[in-house]
Amino acid sequence: MSIFNSAAGKISSLYKDLYTAWSLHRALPSGSDPFFPAGALVCVEISNCNLKCVMCPRGGVHGLVNDRRGMMGMELFRKIVDKFKAEKVTVRELWFANWGEPLLNPDFPEMVRYAKSRLPDAKLIAFSNLTCLTDPSAVAASGLDRIEVSLSGMSQEIYSRNHAGGNVKTVIENLAALAAAKQRLRSAMEITVKFHDYKYNKADAVLAGEFCRGNGIVFKFTRCYVSSVEGNVAFQKEKERFTEFYGGFIDMEKEKELAHTLGSPAQCVLRRYQVAIDFDGRLYRCCGVYEEKNLMGSFFDQEIRRIPAIDSGICRVCVKTPISWR
Ligand code: SF4
Repeated sequence: MSIFNSAAGKISSLYKDLYTAWSLHRALPSGSDPFFPAGALVCVEISNCNLKCVMCPRGGVHGLVNDRRGMMGMELFRKIVDKFKAEKVTVRELWFANWGEPLLNPDFPEMVRYAKSRLPDAKLIAFSNLTCLTDPSAVAASGLDRIEVSLSGMSQEIYSRNHAGGNVKTVIENLAALAAAKQRLRSAMEITVKFHDYKYNKADAVLAGEFCRGNGIVFKFTRCYVSSVEGNVAFQKEKERFTEFYGGFIDMEKEKELAHTLGSPAQCVLRRYQVAIDFDGRLYRCCGVYEEKNLMGSFFDQEIRRIPAIDSGICRVCVKTPISWR
């Protein structure tokens, strides 16, 4: 799974809020809490992914390198949450998953319970392909506020054009099982299907919408884009080839219209508000960064409030690259 396939659009949906907060922050004296007034967005990778979605960097179209494999243990997760508490950094949202599939981690329900007990005001959100749901009741009862499930078709033929390696029948059965567990346990957890807006799947989107309405699931038709910072850098280097590839999935005219550069890293709301942590405790600059060479050292070597100020080469490259989602 990936930020793109599990959470297509999650950055865009928060962007407006965060941009407003950032504008307010600019009016504050320097030295104010960098996470004021929105609170930190914390993104924690707790597992690998079991799919290789075509539109995700894991699909391999750009030849990007991220070979690391691992599963976050409960002990490390506790230490991460405890560090936010110890340094009194407000957590606005905690996201389970970046490029991975959180339900592969057997400790996932316990991690959610722990985060809920220590960070009761944080919104806890998981991004999943829902291909592997061993215990629907444990997820529904964990205290998770929302699970966002990525879907791109209702038939195997349509689904597997992007979700390579996934079985759509399993996903649909798991959605129904999770919805039933939520109802049985009277869980407040929201289940959302993020249905990818591709050129070829509009009829399946109608079917997915009907399925969601019948099962008390929120349906969102979600814009898709050229994913990851490094993917966009690669796109700019071989525009013709990649325009043809992405053109089979998304409206490239729209993508180009929305793509923009930034004046400096300080203007990026993700840099300002996000703390993204890999399964082994290393820091990503943000959830849009994919390659291992761009990781920034251990989360535990930094005071959290200092993280936005860490100098990182990937930001300097990113701001000069036209990107549609940041
Ligand atoms: S790499 Fe830096 S500038 Fe680019 S989106 Fe991430 S935080 Fe923002």
